[in-house]
Parts: sequence; C-alpha cells; structure tokens
Amino acid sequence: MFNLVKGTHDISVDEADKYTYVEQILIQVAETFNFKEFRTPILEYTNLFTRSVGDSSDIVRKEMYTFLDKAGRSVTLRPELTAGIARSIVNSKMLALQDYPVKAYYVGPCFRYERPQLGRYRQFNQFGIECVGVNSPYRDVEAISFGYYCLKMLGFKNIKLKINTLGDNETRENYLKSLREYFSDKIEYLCEDCKERFNINVLRILDCKIDAESDIIKNAPKIVDFLSENSKNNFNIILKELDKLEIPYEIDNNLVRGLDYYSDVVFEYHHFSENGSSLGAIGGGGHYNKLIGEVGGPKDCEGVGLAFGIERLVILMDNENLFENKIDNSIDVYVMPIGPYQDRALEICNMLRLNGFSCDVCLENKNISQMIKKATKRNAKYALIFGEDEIKTGKIKFKNLKTGIQGEVEIDNVVSFLDNFDANLINKEN
Ligand code: AMP
Repeated sequence: MFNLVKGTHDISVDEADKYTYVEQILIQVAETFNFKEFRTPILEYTNLFTRSVGDSSDIVRKEMYTFLDKAGRSVTLRPELTAGIARSIVNSKMLALQDYPVKAYYVGPCFRYERPQLGRYRQFNQFGIECVGVNSPYRDVEAISFGYYCLKMLGFKNIKLKINTLGDNETRENYLKSLREYFSDKIEYLCEDCKERFNINVLRILDCKIDAESDIIKNAPKIVDFLSENSKNNFNIILKELDKLEIPYEIDNNLVRGLDYYSDVVFEYHHFSENGSSLGAIGGGGHYNKLIGEVGGPKDCEGVGLAFGIERLVILMDNENLFENKIDNSIDVYVMPIGPYQDRALEICNMLRLNGFSCDVCLENKNISQMIKKATKRNAKYALIFGEDEIKTGKIKFKNLKTGIQGEVEIDNVVSFLDNFDANLINKEN
C-alpha cells in the first residue's frame, strides 16, 4: 500500500463525473462570453511567480512547490494560472496584434503547500478567465458578472459577492503609508504572522484570518477614504452596473486578496448554506494594472481575471444536492452473449460503437440473470441478448431495461432499430 501525498486526493469515478459536469457548465458559460481556452504548462520558472504573484504574498513566501531541475534551474509547480496565462499571452505576441482584449479561459491543477482541511488541498483544480489588454471598468463588470452567472448556471442560490477596490498606484501609496502609521503602535497586539506582514506588506494584515475579528483590524483606516478621483469613478461605475444587472454585492473594505498583482477592483464569491456555514471563498479575482508589464508585456496593458476552486464547488454542490438528475452515467447498450459467442458480441459492440452508441459487453461466461444484473448496475438502457438459436436465425433479442419492453431485431438492423427505438415503440403501441 502506498499513501497519497499529504494534501492530495484521488477523485473517484463517481466524483469525476461531478468534476466533468462542473467544468462543462463553466466552459459553456465561458464560451457564451467568447473566452477561448488556453492551456499552459504546470511547471514554470520560479521567477514568474515571484515577479507576478509577488514575494510578499503568503503563496510565494510559504506555499510554493519549488525545486531545482537537473540543470540547476529553479522551477515551480504553478500555484495559480494567471501568471502563466499572462506569460503565454505576452510570449505569443498576441498583444502586438492590438486586437484587444485577449479573452482566455483555463482549467487545471494548481499546487500550494497549505495546511490541508475540508476544501483546502495541496493539489487542487481551478477554472478561471483572464481578459487582457483592457482598462475599462465595464470589462471588470463583464468579468464579475461572468463569475456570478457561472454560479447561477451551476444552480447556486445563496451566493454572496464581496467587492472592494484597492485603488490605483497613487491611492495605494497613500493608503499604505497611513496603514503603516496606524499599525506601528498596535502591531505588538496582533499575531506573529501580522508582525511579519507589517514589515513585508502591511495591506495583508487586513486579510488576517486569526485577527479578523479584532477591533484593531476593524478600526484600521479604510481605503475608500484614500481613493483618487479616477479610482472612485471606476469603482462607482462598477457598482452601478452591478445594480443594473441585479447582481447583489456587499462592499468589504478589508478584502485585499492574497496575490500582489491586484489593483483597483477585487472581489470574491462566497456561498452560505442554510445553517450559515461557509467553506471560505469559492472564487475570487480582480483587476491588475502591472502584471502584464511584470511578465515582459507593454507597461500600460491592464487586465482582469477570476478563478474558481473546482473542489469547493463540487463539495458545496454535493451538500446542496445540485447534482441531482444532472449526471447521466448510463450507457446505451449492454451486449449479452449466451454461450461461447464472445467474438460475435465484440462484432456487435464494434458496430454499435462506430455508430455512436455507448456500449459495454459481458465477455465472462455468465448466465442470463447475472448478466441482467451487470447491465442494470451499468445503468444500460437496452440489453441485446443472443445465443446459438439467435445466431442461426440472424435475429437477436432486445430488452429495454427502463420500460421492460422486449422483442426481436435482425442483427443487421440493430443500429437503425436503436436509432428509431422511440418511434418503433409508438408503432408497436398503435
Ligand atoms: P486564489 O487563486 O487564491 O484567488 O483562489 C481562487 C479559488 O481557488 C479560491 O476561491 C478557492 O476556491 C480555490 N482555492 C485556493 N486555494 C485552494 C486550496 N488550497 N484548495 C482548494 N481550493 C483552493
């Protein structure tokens, strides 16, 4: 027996159906917004993340899977995908075409060395979008509404959108100065992590999970009081547009997000169940004004993006029964040879599969009731049954396992018969 690496998890067969369902819905919504799929490597050079996610973030400081490859280069298993997508957009020279914006969606695994708990893993999957080459609050609204519609399409009802602005560079400079002054004589009362954050990036103190309820944090200066005219206008446009789209939100002045590349609007989606419990954010994102420049693109190129954690979506959807009647794990046909006719059974399967029917077969010499049990367990719609007699006459037996209706069909006509099964049924009843 080998153990799983701590913080990783197998996705069992039944669970995998749920992951596929969630990903398909998210991709469908992404396509209605004209986002195009990007696939980037899981492994990137470490400095991509130190430059973009930022070396003051917890992710870069404590959570990255970083190692030297055999040539001594420092590489990292991606802790998120935005940096890689930004790198890929810049490397591909798409931005040089000036056909802005570039709209990307992605899905895939990420790695963070966090303390594992329910909904928090060291390998987990994200789905996200990036819209690059834009500097319009309306694009921010498009991204925020995209996330909201995704959650609606998955069936969620109790969604809370938290939103804040981190302002532009000028805003943040003034704000950080004021935060530093405010915390300088209070920092000794906060946790060890906050003490460290005070020196590295004072903004992160606002995001502390340990001291979140402390009055010191609650009474800290608020960024809204520091916003430049431009940032204020942009934020107001976003809020107004969300009102028009009837997307409810809550302004949370302490929402700063854990990645250094954000500026201006940031947001998170939370879900609250009837009993008030929450798994933390199920998704989050924001605007970025320096990231593209940091990874080698034009300095004035901005963007907006968001990511959902697929594990958290699946856990919450399970809790809320949102997968009910959504996952079809049935097969069309189960082929059941009675006697040593495995070769004929495979031929029939082959014919059905080439015609687009999903089909499985019993090749293990079972009796008919054992095979019916297998067919039922595999959730087959039809059983095709044949033995010596049927092969002689060229007609095999069929049974609709949902309705119990049964009869005979010529082997050569099986495909067209199944294609028209419902029509045949009506004819029969008439
Ligand atoms: P972030 O990239 O930190 O903005 O995270 C985006 C989303 O990914 C979060 O809202 C979570 O749903 C999910 N997520 C982040 N970290 C983890 C983790 N360690 N395990 C599972 N999901 C995660």
